[in-house]
Amino acid sequence: MPELRKHYFLDEYCIIAEERKRRPTDFRAAEPGAGSEANCSFCPGNEGMTPFADAVYTEKGVYSDGPERISGWKMRVFANVFPALVPDPGPASADWTALPGQGYHEVIVDSPRHEENPADFSEAHLGKLISVYRDRYVHYSGMSDVKYVSVYKNWGRDAGASMSHSHSQLIAMPIIPPLIKRELQVISSLAPSCPYCDIVAKESRSCRLIDQNEGWFLIAPFYSQAPYECWILPRRHFPSLKEMSEDEGNSLGRLLKRALGALRSVLNDPSYNCMIFQLPSCYHLNIRIQPVVSRIAGFEKGTGVCINTHAPETAAKELRLFL
Ligand SMILES: [Zn+2]
Ligand SMILES: [Zn+2]
Repeated sequence: MPELRKHYFLDEYCIIAEERKRRPTDFRAAEPGAGSEANCSFCPGNEGMTPFADAVYTEKGVYSDGPERISGWKMRVFANVFPALVPDPGPASADWTALPGQGYHEVIVDSPRHEENPADFSEAHLGKLISVYRDRYVHYSGMSDVKYVSVYKNWGRDAGASMSHSHSQLIAMPIIPPLIKRELQVISSLAPSCPYCDIVAKESRSCRLIDQNEGWFLIAPFYSQAPYECWILPRRHFPSLKEMSEDEGNSLGRLLKRALGALRSVLNDPSYNCMIFQLPSCYHLNIRIQPVVSRIAGFEKGTGVCINTHAPETAAKELRLFL
């Protein structure tokens, strides 16, 4: 029977309603669409189609583009050509309340291979990607005009990716977003205990545990807004990638490899959003992967309550079979 589940510590709810899975549909599944390498601005050889790179990760070290663009890279970071926020915006409108759209928006091309699926990245490649996320996070989080740094990956068109070539993004914002602000208010009211440490303690012994290693747990959260939602939580309490040890970075790469592999097997290469939640202090870093297998519709938009037609307990059981 349907169940209204409350978030672990926020005043938010989702509905778990497996009955709704049986609804018929007369829509055809969306066609997958992959562009070609010839006109892909993210492909090696086409570096001139993008802005100069701020960071180019090669076998030999990290560089930035000079007058010539660097080739032979493993990962490449440059400003988004269609940014949500810019370093030097014009004045904001005088209507109601508006701030200038000030901030930084960059693209992290995380593979030189156009067709490579992140689920096929090696453990070392994923570990390297985590360390690039850390580098870029550290670069922005110390800036006086930055209040929050969002690092995320959209894989697949249904998840919002406009380019099929694998990439991640970073947006550094001049405000703390409302979602994070709400969390912080509750977390500070619970101090010195940490609600994420509680989640780790309880879910690591629950039927929603999918996988674990020496540094991390992979769970299907009790409060799952979407089918097959996965959270990755460090065993140790630390606020951001900056405080993560090298060993923890490597074990995160290994867990991510298993998580992406299991999701691909169960859902046949789903589109997904992967988001890193982190702050400079008073927080417990966590990573959330939400496959896009259903749409946000009128009820969700009208209430802020998501309907999830696949119970996390069921999802965890299925994902464990493909580890
Ligand atoms: Zn490409
Ligand atoms: Zn904690």
